Amino acid sequence: MKIKTENEVTLQFPSQSSNEGFIRSAVACFAAQMDPTLNELEDIKTAVSEAATNAIVHAYPDRIGTGQVLEITVRDYGRGIPDVEKARQPMFTTGGEERSGMGFTIMESFMDSLKVRSVAGRGTTVVMKKKIAPRIKR
Ligand code: ATP
Ligand code: MG
Repeated sequence: MKIKTENEVTLQFPSQSSNEGFIRSAVACFAAQMDPTLNELEDIKTAVSEAATNAIVHAYPDRIGTGQVLEITVRDYGRGIPDVEKARQPMFTTGGEERSGMGFTIMESFMDSLKVRSVAGRGTTVVMKKKIAPRIKR
């Protein structure tokens, strides 16, 4: 998800029908910032969901669902981290009093894997993965 200065958002995902609910909710959350009425919000959700469904159903008819690992990438093009190993230590922060330096530690402990790539002056990419245990359907 990429947020630009004029406040726009880009969502990218494989054409899998299980993403439809997410698209509807994400669009509603974004549009809600403009203070629409519930009717307007419903119209927007319906229209976007129709377009997304078309892409899923018609554009790639042979696509099958993927596996059981959720992978999330958060990327920025900011100043980068000069020493990633140091930045990942619990309680390391360059953020001053209001920061606890626990962000990476929290990511590590809540997810199954965490990769941080960073180039000073160019930006940072954080990739986290979590296995989602299969659940018995009743
Ligand atoms: P907390 O998350 O607990 O409020 P924090 O943000 O300082 O505090 P971490 O999230 O663990 O703690 O990050 C550690 C340090 O790594 C940050 O203080 C900052 O120096 C550096 N850092 C983390 N992410 C980035 C980033 N995307 N770009 C540049 N520096 C970063
Ligand atoms: Mg943090």
